[in-house]
Amino acid sequence: MSDIETQVVDDIFARSEAWENLLALTDDIGSRMAGTQGEVAARDFLVETLRRYGLENVRAEAFPHRAWTPVREALTVTAPVTREIPCRCGGLSPSTPEGGVEAEVLFLERGDREEFKQVKDRVQGRFVVAPYYPVARQLKTPLAADFGAVGLIEARSHAGGLQPARTCAFAKVAAIPVASISREDADYLRRLEARKGRVRLRLTLESRVEQKDSWNVVGEIGQGVEQIVIGGHYDSWHVGPGAGDNAAGVVAVLEAARGLARYGEHLRRRVKVALFGVEELGLVGAWAFTHRHRDALKDTVLMVNNDVGGRPTGIGVMGAEALKSCLEPLAARVRVAGENLPPFRVSVGGPGWGSDFFPFIAHGVPTLGIGTTPVRPEEAIYGHTRADTPDKVYKEGLTECAAINAQVVLHVANLPERPARQMSREEVEVYFRAHRFTETLELLEMWPPERVVERYFSF
Ligand SMILES: [Zn+2]
Repeated sequence: MSDIETQVVDDIFARSEAWENLLALTDDIGSRMAGTQGEVAARDFLVETLRRYGLENVRAEAFPHRAWTPVREALTVTAPVTREIPCRCGGLSPSTPEGGVEAEVLFLERGDREEFKQVKDRVQGRFVVAPYYPVARQLKTPLAADFGAVGLIEARSHAGGLQPARTCAFAKVAAIPVASISREDADYLRRLEARKGRVRLRLTLESRVEQKDSWNVVGEIGQGVEQIVIGGHYDSWHVGPGAGDNAAGVVAVLEAARGLARYGEHLRRRVKVALFGVEELGLVGAWAFTHRHRDALKDTVLMVNNDVGGRPTGIGVMGAEALKSCLEPLAARVRVAGENLPPFRVSVGGPGWGSDFFPFIAHGVPTLGIGTTPVRPEEAIYGHTRADTPDKVYKEGLTECAAINAQVVLHVANLPERPARQMSREEVEVYFRAHRFTETLELLEMWPPERVVERYFSF
C-alpha cells in the first residue's frame, strides 16, 4: 500500500461521516423521488457536502425528464366476490379510463417471453398477474402489452404485505397500466380462483407525467485530461427514504470523496464525482451525464458505480476484462470486517442494464461496481418499499465500501497507462450479443445511445 493509500484508508475508517450522511438523506430528507421537494433538498445537501469536503467545481447540472406523480390507485375484485385490494401504481404507468379497466385474470409463474408464448391464446384482453422476480417489470410490461394483456398486476415476491414501487418503462409512459400488489393478496387471488372460479379485477389508475428539471451533482478532485468517474444515484421512490437503494451508495461515494479530496495534487488523473438524479425512472441522470460530457468520454478510463449497500464481497468488472489483473493486488488488501469471510475477489461479469453504469458501458467505457452481500436477511428484501429504512443498512459496510472506492480510484488514477482500453461501438455490440443482451435492450428501448438520447431529452 502506498503511503497515501494508507493515509486515505486510515482517515476514512477513523473519521467516517457515512452513517451521519445516510441519516441526513433518509431521516432528515426522506424520500428523494425525482420531481419532488425531497429531491431538491438532497441536491442541495450533496452540493453543500462536496463543497465542505473541498472538492472543486461543485455544481448541480440540470437536465429535463418526465416527472411522474401517482394521483389515484384502486384495485377491486369484481367476481366471483367483491373486494378491494391495496395496490400501487407502477412508475410511468398510463392512467386508465375514468371508470377503470375491468378484465379476467391470468396468473403467470415468471413472466418471461417463453411463458408468454406458451399462454399466448389466453393473454389477450386479460390482466396478467406475475411475480416481481425473476423478470424485471420494465421487461414484463412491454411483453404483456405485445401479447395483448390489458394490464399487468405485479405481485411482490417476498411476504410482508408491501406493494413495491418500480418503473414499468424507461423514461416513457408504458403501453398498458401497471400496478403492484402484496404477495399475500396475490396468493389470496389464486386461492379465490382455485375455490370459486375465474377472478375479475377492475384497475383504476391516475398518474401525471410532466416535464421537469432534475440534476446531477458533480464535483472534481485533481487535474488531468484523463478522468475516473465515481458515482451513484441519489433519487429514491416516493414510498420511502431509499436507505439501501441508494443513500448507501451515495454516502460511500461522499466518504471516498472526503478521503481523497486533499490528495488531488497526487493524482495523475482527474476524479469526477457524479451523484445522479432520476435513476429509478430510467437511468436518466447517467444518460444526461454521458450526453453532456460526451467529449470527455474518450478520456474516461473508468466509471465506478455504487448502487445498494451491504458487506463488500468483491469487485465486479464490466466491459473490460483487463481491469481484473490490474485490480487483483488491490483486492488482496481491502479491509472488510467479519468472521470466516470468503476471499475478496475481482470478477468479470456480463453486461447489465439496471443501474447507472449502463450508459457508460454503452459508450465503451470500462466500469466496475463493488459487489456486496447482506449481513442480515432483511437488508436484501425491502428495496423499493417504504421499509427500505436505515435500520436495514449494514453500517460498517458503508465505510468499507467507501475505502474500497478510494483505493480503486487512487490506484487507477496513478497507473502509467490506462488499465483497460475502451470498446468500440462494434465491440460493444459483440459484447452484448455474446451475452444474449440484444432482446433485453430492445424491450427497454436502450440501444443505440443516440436513439436513447433523442428519446429521453427531446420534448
Ligand atoms: Zn438503486
